[in-house]
Amino acid sequence: MTIAHTLGYPRIGHRRELKWALEAYWQGEADAFELLATGRRLREQRWREQQAAGIDLVPVGDFAWYDHVLTMSALLGAVPERFGAVAGDVGLELYFAMARGTAQQPPLEMTKWFDTNYHYLVPEFTPTTRFSLSSSWLFDEVAEALALGLNPKVVLLGPLTYLYLGKEKAPGFSRLSLLPRLLVTYRELLVQLKARGIDWVQMDEPALALDLGGEWRARLAEAYRILAPEAPKLLIATYFDSVADLAQELTSLPVAGLHLDLVRAPSQLEAFLDGYPADKILSLGVVDGRNVWRCDLDRALGLLEPAHARLKERLWVAPSCSLIHCPVDLGEETGLDPELKSWLAFARQKLEEVAVLKRALVEGRGAVAEALAASRAAARSRATSPRIHDPAVKAALASLPAHADRRASAFAARYGAQARRFKLPLFPTTTIGSFPQTPEIRKARRDLKTGALSEEAYRERIRAEIRTAVERQEALGLDVLVHGEAERNDMVEYFAGELQGFALTANGWVQSYGSRCVKPPILYGDVARPCPMTVEWIRYAQSLTGKPVKGMLTGPVTLLQWSFVRDDQPRSETALQIALAIRQEVQDLERAGIGMIQIDEPAFREGLPLKRRQWPAYLEWAARAFRVASSAVADTTQIHTHMCYSEFNDILPAIASLDADVITIETSRSGMELLRAFAEFRYPNAIGPGVYDIHSPRVPTQEEMMELLEKARAVIPDERLWVNPDCGLKTRGWPEVEAALRNMVAAAKALRSRAGAEP
Ligand code: GLN
Ligand code: ZN
Repeated sequence: MTIAHTLGYPRIGHRRELKWALEAYWQGEADAFELLATGRRLREQRWREQQAAGIDLVPVGDFAWYDHVLTMSALLGAVPERFGAVAGDVGLELYFAMARGTAQQPPLEMTKWFDTNYHYLVPEFTPTTRFSLSSSWLFDEVAEALALGLNPKVVLLGPLTYLYLGKEKAPGFSRLSLLPRLLVTYRELLVQLKARGIDWVQMDEPALALDLGGEWRARLAEAYRILAPEAPKLLIATYFDSVADLAQELTSLPVAGLHLDLVRAPSQLEAFLDGYPADKILSLGVVDGRNVWRCDLDRALGLLEPAHARLKERLWVAPSCSLIHCPVDLGEETGLDPELKSWLAFARQKLEEVAVLKRALVEGRGAVAEALAASRAAARSRATSPRIHDPAVKAALASLPAHADRRASAFAARYGAQARRFKLPLFPTTTIGSFPQTPEIRKARRDLKTGALSEEAYRERIRAEIRTAVERQEALGLDVLVHGEAERNDMVEYFAGELQGFALTANGWVQSYGSRCVKPPILYGDVARPCPMTVEWIRYAQSLTGKPVKGMLTGPVTLLQWSFVRDDQPRSETALQIALAIRQEVQDLERAGIGMIQIDEPAFREGLPLKRRQWPAYLEWAARAFRVASSAVADTTQIHTHMCYSEFNDILPAIASLDADVITIETSRSGMELLRAFAEFRYPNAIGPGVYDIHSPRVPTQEEMMELLEKARAVIPDERLWVNPDCGLKTRGWPEVEAALRNMVAAAKALRSRAGAEP
């Protein structure tokens, strides 16, 4: 039978019920019993919702209290020794200790799940890591699903991907050496699932879509040859990119089926379809699990129908990947413009699309004529709607001169001119942009929304906040000030709210990690800037002080990366449209007398494609977008950028090609380790290596910061060295911020006298 299935479904709930339940539990306002009950309720609701929409096989095991990789670690008993665990059951307490840390132990490291904005907890491996089934949650869920009379497909993270995503915590050993041991436990798990009557198990192996090293590829066949014989039917799920180069290996595995992501990599189908083995099903992901657009059913059927002609009931239909990367239900969005809404599908709507596609295959297109007509109408209106297509934006891009992405002079000349203009001391001190977002600011924003505060009263509140921030910075003796970003709830949402082409949702939450959810804007149409976005605030801040105030903008790549982006034109083109809007803002700031402008690009690196061979093309257009945004200024205007991660080594040429006058980066946590790469590369412009970690409330001493700065001085010439924290300070409180910045300014001053300069 041709089957409609999903690879995974949002677990946070329609109204973020999981978030509220978790936070109540952590704060001791609810006990474990209540948390477990909420989990059970959510799981049942998710299953019923999928079943009601026509999904034949619902996923079980895709639920997680915090993160599905951590849940896999719990299931496999892969608990690092430092958590002092004795073998046996991993309960909520130990689970959350690994997720969030304890008084004695930092949590597991967190990192991005492939190229998504979801974060997983990195398994820690040592040569002595042992595995044994250590959690009953999965079996409880299976029992729940069976008791509800459902037809469940168990979802597990596959062994290769699980190992691949982990980290070696001991030198001179490869985690791949743990594979045999790991497989023993996986096999036991699969045997137990079979004994409980489970027919299908989906093994998620998204790592297969990366540029896997040969030693990893070589173990694929071995792994599944060991697992398959005593297991339920295994479906290997790949997603996020093509696995065409593994087609040979994958089709000869002793498993019952494969899943391919045809949204990210439609052309890989060819590599599989010819001679696809008769003993396997093929699941095709044609509904985009990573984005919010309504599926173009004609296009999807164009992929499915030829495959169905060959495979018949061995063809399954699915979203491209788990739906956890989508908001839950478009039905919750009552405030969205109806035309825009007609173009969208959130997770719940995607279920119906999968079901309709299956029906079209089984019963013919005639059976779903209405759905096809609606899909066509949406495609037509997206192709022509003036809401999306703005000829003025296209004209502006077309008339952009070829040199629009280059500053008039080279860095050395600019930096000299800027030095003469600003007369800053050696080792100038500054911050990254935001100051503490106090509860009062958040309340003012809420009050503005509800109408309890008038627009003008709100603006006065923000001005007061800016005044305080400027006064405090002057008192601290910082050299380059910021306005503090009090008017911004979020560095992306704020600009999305100001720009044409973006929409904000009321309830479009997506899990980022644990109970943390984000609400990415929807970038649906040509981007333009109807009016200045930040000038009023920055100009006000500058009017309060004789010191330079840095204008503060979010860059085009980050605005793109942290939004749901239109899929009807290349991302590179959309990035350029945003760049043009930011460029206009930069010009307006310059005209308003602002001499320094920072364009943040914290998401620059995470835009990198999964496959290396696609890196150069991305880096080329992303860097160009930044330069288009930043280059239309005089030599004497200083452009800053900020990035907050610590892996630069492999993209340094691209970072240098941004040609920002000053870059501020995260370095304190690695003890300036990262700077070596900058030095070896001979990074040509000025750098502000973060001298203190803003992620912790700890106030670093002057001596500590001087030590870090001395390390920096060893590789960066004094004239090009800036002094600043690692990142923005919005999550911190004022007392710790003032104490830390006081020490930071003192460190810079002490260093100046040490270097024989004026303090
Ligand atoms: N300017 C922003 C801030 O200070 C930068 C935030 C970021 O790098 N993520 O908050
Ligand atoms: Zn940052």
